[in-house]
Amino acid sequence: MKKLLSVHLIVFGAGVIFVAVAADFLGLGGHPKMGTRQILLAIAGFAVLLIGKYKLDWRRMVADSSPPVSWRQLLIMAAWFGLLTGFLEFLVRELFVKIIFNLNPHLFWMITLANLILFTIIGLILLPVRRWPKVVSLRITTFIFILLGCLAPLLNFPQIDIWARVLLAVGLAVQLSRLVAAHSNGFHTFVRRTLPWMLILAVGGSSVGIYESSTLSENRTLAKLPPAMPSAPNVLLLVLDTVRAQNLSLYGYHRPTTPRLEQFAKTGILFERALSTSPWTLPAHATMFTGRFTHELFPEGQTPLDATVPLRDEYPTLAEILSEHGYATAGFVANLGYCAAAYGLSRGFARYEDYMPSLELLLGSSALAVKLVRQYRELTEKQNVIDHRKRAEDVNNSFLHWLSRREGRPFFAFLNYYDAHDPYLPPYPFELKFGSKKPEDAQIAHGRKYKSHEIQELQDVYDSCIAYIDHEIGSLLDKLQEQGVLECTVVIITSDHGEQFGEHGLMYHGNSLYSQLLHVPLLISFSKNLPAGKRIRQPVSLRDLPNTVVDLVGIDDITRFPGSSLARHWVDARASANGEVETHFAEVFVGGETPNWFQESWPVYKGSMQSLVREGYHYIRYGDGNEELFDFENDPKEEHDRADSEGDRAMLKLMRAALETALALSQEN
Ligand SMILES: [Zn+2]
Repeated sequence: MKKLLSVHLIVFGAGVIFVAVAADFLGLGGHPKMGTRQILLAIAGFAVLLIGKYKLDWRRMVADSSPPVSWRQLLIMAAWFGLLTGFLEFLVRELFVKIIFNLNPHLFWMITLANLILFTIIGLILLPVRRWPKVVSLRITTFIFILLGCLAPLLNFPQIDIWARVLLAVGLAVQLSRLVAAHSNGFHTFVRRTLPWMLILAVGGSSVGIYESSTLSENRTLAKLPPAMPSAPNVLLLVLDTVRAQNLSLYGYHRPTTPRLEQFAKTGILFERALSTSPWTLPAHATMFTGRFTHELFPEGQTPLDATVPLRDEYPTLAEILSEHGYATAGFVANLGYCAAAYGLSRGFARYEDYMPSLELLLGSSALAVKLVRQYRELTEKQNVIDHRKRAEDVNNSFLHWLSRREGRPFFAFLNYYDAHDPYLPPYPFELKFGSKKPEDAQIAHGRKYKSHEIQELQDVYDSCIAYIDHEIGSLLDKLQEQGVLECTVVIITSDHGEQFGEHGLMYHGNSLYSQLLHVPLLISFSKNLPAGKRIRQPVSLRDLPNTVVDLVGIDDITRFPGSSLARHWVDARASANGEVETHFAEVFVGGETPNWFQESWPVYKGSMQSLVREGYHYIRYGDGNEELFDFENDPKEEHDRADSEGDRAMLKLMRAALETALALSQEN
């Protein structure tokens, strides 16, 4: 009895010390240095351990109950526990952790491999130490593996206090390793026998995900398509995520952020006042692909194009229509937040590259590895050891690689660049292209009051990011030119929405309908088939993009998309540009409850908002019925609200009626 008590005390003491030390080492405590809490905890652990030690001879206990571990045994255990932890973590993520990353086909193999590698590394570290069985015996090794195996799935629940999770893992590990020690021989035979089966399961499960994103699967899809028209041109859609028009030198900005786009604009048509239909990524892209507005696509939930949801597949996507006409379609996206295939934007694409396997992503898939690497980052002050960000260069390379092995069909390629989205981290040599000091934190903190010099620093790096994307787009266009691809390609360059830098007291996007968010770049070029260097002053909406594309590539069936082709602005024969009043609708739609991260100071906090641009005015209606009216022609930054101005009363009335008409029209279609 006395002996048992001592063992308990020693194990408990050691556990407490482990928690105190490991919490820091693994970054679990969230403090870069050992805090008072952990020091006190470690002292308490030592005290308990000493009490236990004096009750029993430690050396005898280890020698009695725990034989030394052989190197073979150690590595087999490392692999077995690594795979098991991978499977467990995968199940936990699939069943309980609702994050979009979990819906990527690479998750299973990455999570399994990451844990396998991690446990093997730990096994290798223990290898030389096993010469001293008093330090690393079979029993202690088993305890370490079980502890990490219990900790890994638990780390996926940030809502539970970290100390509770660690203590739970320690408790589970103590009990389980005791159970294993009681049936030591049987357990190790079981491990040896099941390891091959676990390997088969790991490889089998991994191949499913790898096939889904493989060329094999893409070729099968393409083989089923009809042949394309002989002269059908390619379509290249470049979306610069979060890039507002007013920060581009292409639109007269004082900094030379976009020299390459300026050069390219000379070959095609520049729309000076292009408007997005939504201030955030997902609905803005969904509209560009379908011509449908947010409220049509988002009755609830956040998968607007998910064809498995009844009614949603009634709205065809551009990729689907072009596929039906024999196009090879592919998407290469860097915004993994909302452009990931799981959100439905991949609908109709034969190939869709979102999460690309990389060492960072591999590490990022395992919660244990994330904790270890985060701590490593803090220790070495290295930034972005785990940064899922795909650079514009990566997006272009993926696209060019795909292009190099594509044959026989015209293509529709959609590229999304995420470099100008916060945190603004322009890569070398663009880090300080503009401004002289990097912001302390390049990520926008919701609810924080920014001082004007802080906003300037953020805008400096934002501009530098835009310059980087411009440079990369320039290189891409050069390569396409060299390959002779450009002359038979419709190139569309635009953005999904802009960004706010303190205007109206707002930062970020998705939270209002001001011009900083809706006014986006739009440039269309199609070699000699379109007028070169033309600038269109009338406002246009990205809603008309799908219709414009099918019109430009010569597909007759343009009734599949609502809206109308933008060709009305450059083809004289098309009447609508002459005199007809155009209305451009935008909205930010809050389906169901207001998300908990919404700030009270945000306009969208009051509920779904709508906006109209018409006859030189911009009208905004808030969720609570409040209204704003801006002179779209003469007040591009929207600094003077005219909703209360006597002279604009008639316009306000007209806008209200026009808004009702616009909403009713889209419901009818
Ligand atoms: Zn976006």
